[in-house]
Amino acid sequence: MKKVIANWGNYPAMESDERLFSYDDQLQDIIRNSPHFIPRGNGRCYGDASLAGETINTIKYDKILSFDSENGVFECQSGLTLDQILEVIVPKGWFLPVTPGTKFITIGGAVGSDVHGKNHHVDGTFGQHIIDMDIILADGSLVTCSPSQLPDLFEATCGGMGLTGMITRVKFQLKKIPSSYISQKQIKAANLEELIRLFEEYKHYTYSMAWIDCLQKGNSFGRGIMTIGEFAKPEELNEKQRKAPLALPKKKAITIPFNFPSWSLNTFTVKAFNFLYYNKNVKKEISSVTTYEPFFYPLDALLHWNRCYGKKGFVQYQFVLPLEAKEGLIDILRRIGARGMGSFLVVLKVFGKQENSLISFPFEGYTLALDFPVRKGLFEFLDELDQVVLKYGGRLYMSKDARMKPSMLEAGYPRLQEFKSIVQKYNPDGKIRSIQSDRLELTK
Ligand SMILES: Cc1cc2nc3c(=O)[nH]c(=O)nc-3n(C[C@H](O)[C@H](O)[C@H](O)COP(=O)(O)OP(=O)(O)OC[C@H]3O[C@@H](n4cnc5c(N)ncnc54)[C@H](O)[C@@H]3O)c2cc1C
Repeated sequence: MKKVIANWGNYPAMESDERLFSYDDQLQDIIRNSPHFIPRGNGRCYGDASLAGETINTIKYDKILSFDSENGVFECQSGLTLDQILEVIVPKGWFLPVTPGTKFITIGGAVGSDVHGKNHHVDGTFGQHIIDMDIILADGSLVTCSPSQLPDLFEATCGGMGLTGMITRVKFQLKKIPSSYISQKQIKAANLEELIRLFEEYKHYTYSMAWIDCLQKGNSFGRGIMTIGEFAKPEELNEKQRKAPLALPKKKAITIPFNFPSWSLNTFTVKAFNFLYYNKNVKKEISSVTTYEPFFYPLDALLHWNRCYGKKGFVQYQFVLPLEAKEGLIDILRRIGARGMGSFLVVLKVFGKQENSLISFPFEGYTLALDFPVRKGLFEFLDELDQVVLKYGGRLYMSKDARMKPSMLEAGYPRLQEFKSIVQKYNPDGKIRSIQSDRLELTK
């Protein structure tokens, strides 16, 4: 069915022939008869990675194939969402090994972007927890791969943005949890220097991230709130929580019903938001025990919050810089302040080592994610930031990208040529392609 689709940033939008399926043979027929397509999950990447003239959407292909609740091994079809998985595994004392900041993504999407979470420095990316998976290649054949079986296909599929084939089945290892609650600490940092010190001090925590007020200057430059946490032990729960330590959180989400006018976001509103957000925590340090939803998925409580950015949409700019390149972080935050390009959402996180990464985004260092509404001058400004990222040895996350140039990708990913040749081997005629892969000259 032809319809206009966009991913989470609502930029760009395009008309696409969207194919849905529920069964393997149906999917193989669609793939064999399609001149070109890109696999699509729930469209929660921000840019154009799952956009093309023809998209094959997995969202109805969502069966659980097996769940070994003794050993925490889970196997499902690629369209199952993290939300659906949590409902089954949490009451049995298991959690996702790695989760991004939204639970409304599919397992296929988790692999396609090789997603990271607040625990990257401890547990790495999603791909590191996969036991094996099935993929339908461009010619319609079905193959199984794992770290030891067709390892080139496996590595290029984790973070490969759908270009090696359609993932149909994924078997992965879950993480054992003592309760479904999180024992968390929120610590206010007066500036960037303190924030970075806190990351160092609390690196033994499994989960960590920080929000930054990007428009502060002087002594308050880079002030923010760091959040760290662990799954709570039974003795940390209150009496009510102890009665059902593996309870699922109650669903309470509100929906943003329409696109906000684009004038509603400006330096003034970002400053006001940042002031209120920073000062909501009166104390320097707050400890609490909370359900896992507000800790892992704070934005999911506001469904369609992407509409706050107006009809033109927004882009998320996420980069990683090596640990020793703190100056690069400062440079980028200064440029944002100087241009008044403030962003509501500025998230800082420290990544751990990601050994032998072929095309996955993380490497050991600082990652910063910023949202910018699409407006005049933005893309030129982001080109300028690209140069700073490159100068300090960093790179951008393809899953958030809608505008980088091929030279930026090439400079940031030293194993790009190897990735391209694996894509060429399994997808020889570029039948599987997105507007992103064409723009980045991965499939042109
Ligand atoms: C609020 C929010 C917070 C986020 N936080 C994080 C975060 O903390 N960390 C992080 O890493 N990401 C984060 N993301 C990004 C998101 O996790 C990824 O973009 C994820 O890939 C989206 O999955 P999806 O199912 O929506 O897939 P889509 O967005 O539809 O597709 C994403 C990519 O996966 C490919 N793909 C999808 N399904 C398949 C399949 N079956 N076979 C092969 N390829 C496939 C697509 O071709 C595309 O390249 C966040 C996104 C949002 C909206």
